[in-house]
Amino acid sequence: MNFEVVFLGTSAAVPSATRAHAAIAIKYFNEIILFDCGEGTQRQLISSKTSYMKINHIFITHYHGDHFLGLPGLLQTMSLSDRTEPLTIYGPRGIRDVLEVVLRICRSELSFEIIPHEIRHGPVYTSDKFRIDAVKVDHSALTYGLVFEEVKKREFLREKAIALGVKPGPNFSRLHRGEEVIVDGKTIRPDDVLGSEKKCKKVVYTSDTRPCQNIVDVSKGAVLIHDSTYDGSMQDQAVEATHSTSVEAAEVAVQGGAKKLFLTHISPRYSSTVEMLKEAKTVFAATSVAQDFQVFKP
Ligand SMILES: [Zn+2]
Ligand SMILES: [Zn+2]
Repeated sequence: MNFEVVFLGTSAAVPSATRAHAAIAIKYFNEIILFDCGEGTQRQLISSKTSYMKINHIFITHYHGDHFLGLPGLLQTMSLSDRTEPLTIYGPRGIRDVLEVVLRICRSELSFEIIPHEIRHGPVYTSDKFRIDAVKVDHSALTYGLVFEEVKKREFLREKAIALGVKPGPNFSRLHRGEEVIVDGKTIRPDDVLGSEKKCKKVVYTSDTRPCQNIVDVSKGAVLIHDSTYDGSMQDQAVEATHSTSVEAAEVAVQGGAKKLFLTHISPRYSSTVEMLKEAKTVFAATSVAQDFQVFKP
């Protein structure tokens, strides 16, 4: 498992027998990041064998109950499991107030520190492996979509490095990081052993939204996970409720040049998504309807 997306909850507004409230786990090497934390997310994590103790970043896209009411239970369970590592929780304006209320609900002191982080449109988090950007979307509450993108890396030409006299080990890492090394008095430069840039994978999660240009702008080559609360015949309801239809989601995938589309945030009115999928596929062929516990490798 190097890079996996786990759909933990794919329902809209209220859960159904087969779909829980919104939550997505991004597993990237040894890290797990949570996008949204609807009610029951902790149980979905356990059922999908996703370690909640490994989660170091939780992003809440907006403060509608179906996207964050799982926080009190999850935080309490982490504390009961004697977690000590700090946990950063990101959210739109008001995240400190929301977390204060959540912690008051938990009542007892948690065993670990919570770091609130307010997000705005733009870069939110960067490591040497990946970055996460927030994208303002078009919903009835202040809402940010999230873009998870691998950091561009150049391919390491192992054989060439060995031919130049570099031994596998710390010097490999130094060259990989872009540092020069000296071997037998000879300087080896990163350019000597680094090839072309590897293709970076990108996952875009819209959260709740009408189709919007900000999402089109970031979707090139991405796996797009788009609000699809309604089917194409319910356009008026979608406009009124500031959500999207499956057809609109597919149109965004086409306009943005996405690689693959997952429809999510499915209204519990649909016991079958066959028709919804069929109409979206006529617009964008590489479409699937996300299911709870579905695992996808981008
Ligand atoms: Zn929602
Ligand atoms: Zn919402």
